[in-house]
Amino acid sequence: MLKTDKYPLYYCPAMGDQLKIACGVFAAINFDNQPVFSHIYWGLRAQNHRGHQSHGFLTYHDGKFHVHRSLDLVPKIKTSAIQEWFGRLPGNIGIGNVRYTTSGKSDEKSLIRGTQPVTASKNGLKIATSFNGNVVNTFQLRKEIGNVFPNFSYECDADLICYKLMIEQLKNKDLTSAIKTCMQEVDGAFSVAGITQDGDFFAFKDPHGIRPLCAGHSPDHLTYAFSSETASLDINGFQRDFELEPGELVRASRNGFERQKLVSGGKKAFCAFEFAYFARPDSRFDDKYVYEAREEFGRNLVRENPDVVKNADIILSVPETGDDSALGVHEASGLRWERASRRHRYVTERAFLLLSKERSSTIDRKINILGSKVNGKRIIVTEDSIVRGDTTKVIVQKLRRMGAKKVYVFSTFPRITGPCLYGIDMATYGQLIGSKHEPDEIANIIGADAVCYQSLEGLVRATGFKQDQLCTACITGKYPTPLAQKIADEMKKKFLEGYEETGRLYEMEEALPKA
Ligand code: SF4
Repeated sequence: MLKTDKYPLYYCPAMGDQLKIACGVFAAINFDNQPVFSHIYWGLRAQNHRGHQSHGFLTYHDGKFHVHRSLDLVPKIKTSAIQEWFGRLPGNIGIGNVRYTTSGKSDEKSLIRGTQPVTASKNGLKIATSFNGNVVNTFQLRKEIGNVFPNFSYECDADLICYKLMIEQLKNKDLTSAIKTCMQEVDGAFSVAGITQDGDFFAFKDPHGIRPLCAGHSPDHLTYAFSSETASLDINGFQRDFELEPGELVRASRNGFERQKLVSGGKKAFCAFEFAYFARPDSRFDDKYVYEAREEFGRNLVRENPDVVKNADIILSVPETGDDSALGVHEASGLRWERASRRHRYVTERAFLLLSKERSSTIDRKINILGSKVNGKRIIVTEDSIVRGDTTKVIVQKLRRMGAKKVYVFSTFPRITGPCLYGIDMATYGQLIGSKHEPDEIANIIGADAVCYQSLEGLVRATGFKQDQLCTACITGKYPTPLAQKIADEMKKKFLEGYEETGRLYEMEEALPKA
């Protein structure tokens, strides 16, 4: 098998710190029998940042599912091909997905097989789902599904959710009860939109609401949609209505949305990293633009590090997720934000396919620095987060080469000390620089004069959420779901004893707690 220096090719940890997000969901229904394909298309185009390995559309027409799945980014459609697309994907109900794999294999064949939306059918029942999140109890579910579908081949955790819904319905449960059982028995994060053989159109979230999913409607109140991010509603000219609550099932009807809380008691645990890195700055979570939170992150970093600010000349951001916090640093400190770091917009190598020794040079190629602007300067560099440390290290090295006198790194996300088991591809302790090093050591390793992390309190305050409404597990080690907590605790112990992880923790049988 072709190998990187440590991981087999099918396991592709984050390339440097450029994390990949699990997935993006967009779904729509029109009550005037108009096709929804174009809404889904634009919805996915607006959230391609959430997954660029594959994309898929599924529409419902005359009792049939019509599907198009493909690798890579959602394509541009030539005017001459529009009719062909509408012909291929007819119907007034549809779901779509963009995906980056955080489960299953990453070779081309597996990526194609793991592309969403996924479907399951048996005994006249059919279901299609589009999913964002990550399932933690994969082994248990694979076994359970395998008992009913002996040929079930696991490609990604989206299959697990879809088949779990199917096997619950085969027990004579209605869809609502099947979803409820799914919420109760699947450990992990899942925001799902789906369609059944009867055109039942629905969306639901896990009992902790870890991943985003909002609902909105068109100005004429004829189209209703579900989306991972509000930016996808905006691009369609839709109005945002609400963010789905944890454990909630929502259906759309001519009269609007019908909301049903199926599981209560689960504590809300919305992913804090969505604010720092994943979501678009122009998306909103609970009425707050991600951009506003990021600006406040910058102001917090100034308040929390007055001595560093006193000794700096300029601010530089790592584009583009570091830009908004740089504005906050500028406002609170009065220092000039020098736009002297630029991204080569069309350099988008599939770095996960490169050997690890090439990673650094790839990052190097992506960002250009205006040398004369940084020469002789003491610089604060704003960065969204530090995961592996590779990206930040390359930036620091570039600045040093160009004559920077001092380089202080401001990370808006607090130190990441543990893996994410909920759909972000940082699923081992070994890949995290913060799992074994203190900030001073990290500064040393990446060649910076200091690394300053925003405090957890500052981050929480800036989001507008309360601390007990956010998932901060990768910072605090407190996971909202029980199996994830057990796996993380067990593997942390082993990691500190020198054990080397061989894959994502939830896909390693030895990581499972002993019965
Ligand atoms: S562990 Fe971290 S990245 Fe994962 S869901 Fe929680 S806050 Fe988000």
